[in-house]
Amino acid sequence: MNEFVELADWFGWRAPHEPEVVDSLPTPTFTVKDRPRISFSTNNYLGIATSPRTKAAATRGIKAYGVGNSDSRLLGGNLALYGELERKIARSNGKSHAILFATGYLTNLGALSTLPRATQIARVFGFTASREYSYAYFSDEYNHISIREGMRLSGARRYSYHHVDLDHLETLLRRSTATSKIIVTDGVFSQDGDIAPIPDLLRLAERWDALVYVDDAHGTGVLGASGGGVVEHFKAASERLIYMGTLSKAYGSIGGYIAAHGLITEVLRMACPAYGFTATLPPDQAMVISTAIDVVRDEPERRQRLWDNQRYFVKRMAELNYKLVATETPIVPIWLGDEAKAEQLALAVREEGIHVDAIRFPAVPIKSARLRIQLNAGHRRADIDHLVDVLRRHQHLAEPARRFVAASRDRLGYSGQWRPANAPVCAENSDSAMLVMKTAKNRS
Ligand code: PMP
Repeated sequence: MNEFVELADWFGWRAPHEPEVVDSLPTPTFTVKDRPRISFSTNNYLGIATSPRTKAAATRGIKAYGVGNSDSRLLGGNLALYGELERKIARSNGKSHAILFATGYLTNLGALSTLPRATQIARVFGFTASREYSYAYFSDEYNHISIREGMRLSGARRYSYHHVDLDHLETLLRRSTATSKIIVTDGVFSQDGDIAPIPDLLRLAERWDALVYVDDAHGTGVLGASGGGVVEHFKAASERLIYMGTLSKAYGSIGGYIAAHGLITEVLRMACPAYGFTATLPPDQAMVISTAIDVVRDEPERRQRLWDNQRYFVKRMAELNYKLVATETPIVPIWLGDEAKAEQLALAVREEGIHVDAIRFPAVPIKSARLRIQLNAGHRRADIDHLVDVLRRHQHLAEPARRFVAASRDRLGYSGQWRPANAPVCAENSDSAMLVMKTAKNRS
């Protein structure tokens, strides 16, 4: 018990940070204690979570099947609609196969922890490989925590490369003796809003005989001419590509998936406990997702409004003296650095009826706090003007700032997320979230 007393005190459990209780969910307007607010930090990018068509699909699904699937698909829960949805997802991602998981987080945790262990798991059932395989992950240092946790659980070697630094990545690939190499990246970096250079990563994968695993949680439904995500954005196609998407953001539901060559998805279906040993999505949500894919395709005006708003916000922000971390996607983070200032600015904005998330350690490194602005199809010009006006009144908080300085690692002088103080980036990375939180706290 003592260790938990110590730990809970360290976390400040007696006065915990309570997230605000809301009365409704952002569409992007919502209410808190009966007062209206508008969110500039919601993943419901296209408003599909409350679209009449998705709501009708959920109602039809509940009427037909009830509210949940209490079984795994490997046991009694394998309704035909799951397979149909997987085929639809595969087609919409230009892949032959897809496999569904209950959440996006679980998709990364399950797939990344399983791929290097699949041979080992099959061995238990009598499989003998023709040779000894060894696995290594090469992961962008800003990747989402579900990626890092998945890789850690795999037991494979892990190398972290500097954010989008292809030279560093290639040095690590060259040095590695692993027989099976997997490069892993966010498609759109969730706290930074920039886009991974997928074609360059595929070129390196070709050269070093690797696979590329892309977590496109914030790109799915948002990037690309028809919402096909980062792969459509770059018109990238390769059998080396393992595409991961989440269904909880632009698609407004819950769940995650891998779309890839059938070899990958079917090995996961057989060997991944996070697929086989857990209940899957409720059937009504599978029907919602199928409809959400149609909504993204048939209602392009949603994506049009999202991108018009993105461009308008970026243009208006050029009038102010803030540093924007990136301006390429609907995630446009405003750099503050100092945690207290970020909280202060978020609070000041909230007092004006606008919700923005202050992103701070442990989601980003210490002294890298920012306001993560996420544009939305449902924002009106007047909402954006109001936010810009409020930001204008408080811009002293961001000083000293320069306009439109993309927050590259070197320029801002922070040394990368979650890395222990003295761990070299190129070395095998053995961190866990907790270990690094503690190390980072000790440093502050
Ligand atoms: N990957 C990334 C990059 C994310 O931003 C998130 C959600 N914050 C996830 C995975 C997890 O997705 P979900 O919330 O759908 O489980």
